[in-house]
Amino acid sequence: MESFRYNRLNTYLKKKFGTRTLKICVDGGFTCPNRDGTKGVGGCIFCNECGAGERIKGKTAESLQSIENQINSFLESYRGQRAEKYIVYFQAFSGTYDSVQNLQKKYNLALSLSSMIVGLQIATRPDLINKEIVELLKSFKDKFYVCVELGLQTANDKIGDIINRKYSTKDFELACQLLNNAGIDIVAHMMVGLPNETEKDILDTVQVINTCKCSGIKIHSTYILKNTKLCEMFESGQYIPITQDYYIESVCKVISKLSKNIIIHRLTGDPPKESLIAPLWTIHKKIVLNNISQALKEKNIYQGINFKEN
Ligand code: SF4
Repeated sequence: MESFRYNRLNTYLKKKFGTRTLKICVDGGFTCPNRDGTKGVGGCIFCNECGAGERIKGKTAESLQSIENQINSFLESYRGQRAEKYIVYFQAFSGTYDSVQNLQKKYNLALSLSSMIVGLQIATRPDLINKEIVELLKSFKDKFYVCVELGLQTANDKIGDIINRKYSTKDFELACQLLNNAGIDIVAHMMVGLPNETEKDILDTVQVINTCKCSGIKIHSTYILKNTKLCEMFESGQYIPITQDYYIESVCKVISKLSKNIIIHRLTGDPPKESLIAPLWTIHKKIVLNNISQALKEKNIYQGINFKEN
């Protein structure tokens, strides 16, 4: 694999921390304002009851193990021996959706459990970033690496409405401004294959991520999970999933337009096999990654080769 064609996360983390550094996925028991009625109900059309993350199977927020137990069991397991440093990663649902006091308690606890923990990474919605939360996150920066993952998915607000995300691209830009001013790393999520999406939408989304000075990106293909609105749309013929060829072609264009400063955290979707309806090729992550590398080589594409300053 020609790793030099784009900035890879593992290389970045190794350089930053001087050793292999992995993430510990922790479910903080959060929910989402787009599910509990505050912003909407039912959530984004592609999101199932796991909240776009990895809520431990069969667990509800109430029956989850404590943060302490989750981290300690991870560190005592085989996976806890695979690196010398770890970043605590609140992935499921919206990791800043709580009072500042409760967030402080949860983050503090997670960071205090082992000297091997060197960072805090939180996935959330752009409309759940405000000055108070940014101040809280900033307070950890003296001792820890701090990074916030923000859903964008698309820069086209009309598609944003179709996917029922209930925040705007402007919300994303404002959240980035607050985080950038505080010197907190931002990882943007974008999806390829959303309903009604054109190539221009994909490239406009890359441009917003470049302009907002995000330090990282996660690129996902759109996939259909059981019990989602997208599944209903698929079954009624309103949504047709993308092919692997289309995805690879699009990812090559994204990489070519992406600023050279951005680290690529993810280039594939990672659907739970048991809930995946379509497209089935998304299960084969390694094959998709190899095919992307092959396409980059054939087209002689490097990250940022077609990057243009706004
Ligand atoms: S914002 Fe995230 S957790 Fe909330 S409904 Fe959308 S994808 Fe799911």
